[in-house]
Amino acid sequence: MSTDQPTRRRLERMDDLVSLCARRGFIFPSSEIYGGINGFWDYGPLGAELKQNLKALWWQRVVRQRPDVEGIDSAIIAHPRTWEASGHVEHFSDPMVDCKTCKRRFRADQIEDERCPEAPKKRAITDCDLTDPRNFNLMLQTQIGASSEAASTAYLRAETCQPIFNDFKRVREAARQKIPFGIAQIGKAFRNEINPRNFTFRSREFEQAELEFFVHPSEREKWFEHWQEERLAFHRELGFDDDHLRTRPHASDELAHYARAAVDVEYLFPFGWQEIEGIHDRGDWDLSRHSEYSGKDLGVTDPDTKEHYMPMVIETSVGIDRTVLALLCDAYSEEEVGEGDTRLVMHFPAGLAPLDVAVLPLSKKLAEPAHALEESLRRRFNVFYDEAGNIGRRYRRQDEAGTPFCVTIDFDTADDGKVTLRDRDSMSQDRVALEGVAAWLSERLEA
Ligand code: ATP
Repeated sequence: MSTDQPTRRRLERMDDLVSLCARRGFIFPSSEIYGGINGFWDYGPLGAELKQNLKALWWQRVVRQRPDVEGIDSAIIAHPRTWEASGHVEHFSDPMVDCKTCKRRFRADQIEDERCPEAPKKRAITDCDLTDPRNFNLMLQTQIGASSEAASTAYLRAETCQPIFNDFKRVREAARQKIPFGIAQIGKAFRNEINPRNFTFRSREFEQAELEFFVHPSEREKWFEHWQEERLAFHRELGFDDDHLRTRPHASDELAHYARAAVDVEYLFPFGWQEIEGIHDRGDWDLSRHSEYSGKDLGVTDPDTKEHYMPMVIETSVGIDRTVLALLCDAYSEEEVGEGDTRLVMHFPAGLAPLDVAVLPLSKKLAEPAHALEESLRRRFNVFYDEAGNIGRRYRRQDEAGTPFCVTIDFDTADDGKVTLRDRDSMSQDRVALEGVAAWLSERLEA
């Protein structure tokens, strides 16, 4: 069996990925049977596993591995005063324009050079009958309780970090943490985006993994640098190479009024360089505002010097869905594997791949020992069992799912006690003793 690396064609058209994702059940429109709902997506069996693995890795690196970070899981709906204090009620808006001809709404900053989707092909959106830009608040509202009075209006959180500031004092005291330390959480956020687009890239419901790291004012630069390095290392661990990953510092006119510095981590998608994570020096804006609006002092006292001060916040905020999308784009590969034969393979890093291993008996007659192996492997790995169709086609299905290894039981297994282990990337095959399969897999998956 040849182990030469085949020619690889990376993803060029998002449509190819969108159709693979629907066909193989990674991600597809939410409420598809009703025609979908714009800006909302469902993750199927493979997508849910991929997302879960990414979140677990983030939690491991940012929370569990660090003695100075605590994890929380807050409610999605916070007291409405939270969003007044944070500035979201007043300022969290995008400029939008309406087209009087086609009755569509667009983000004012995104319409340059675009074609109007409602108009004849060649008409640019700038030829539409557009209103002047007006501000549109992106927070999604809901009502709490039976009454529909204004007092019961609440917001679905627009970012996961605000509840972290609400919980700052409680968590610091409960966990007996001292500055510098951080609080992290992963969870849903909601934004009523004017133009959801680029598959899941800009959605109305999405997940964020955020860390708010609280530091003494004299140490903010040091920690801002530290978290940039940490987060870049994380994205490299996801397999993104330097041609597809970069950081972009914000220009001073891009910064939020309270921020001193911000850096975006960007990935090169087929639709261009785009932000997947933001790293921000937010100063003491959040804790000061929540102190003011709640009437509770969120400042801290240095146990040695007795200095009372408001900690500064260094934030890292990564979109889980955007990173899953980057993983999907990065993994996608069309490869020539022999004359006129191609395969579509998803090169997910082992450990992040939705499945660890597929158990494939060469014939249905071998189902019994194959199921026994499957059952023993399920205790440690995410296993897929498939006995239908010819073995070549079954390998291709696992390549599309990105499964790093396949184990094949054949008619020799009963005699020599060995199985064939196939590597997704090189397509090379190894004969391994049945009792050594788990160790063989562990060694490679943990590497
Ligand atoms: P953008 O400028 O693209 O709207 P942002 O600067 O508003 O993003 P932040 O508020 O910094 O984004 O949110 C942090 C992270 O949350 C982003 O880097 C991104 O990965 C993710 N995110 C933000 N908005 C969305 C969205 N509508 N859909 C999916 N992920 C999002």
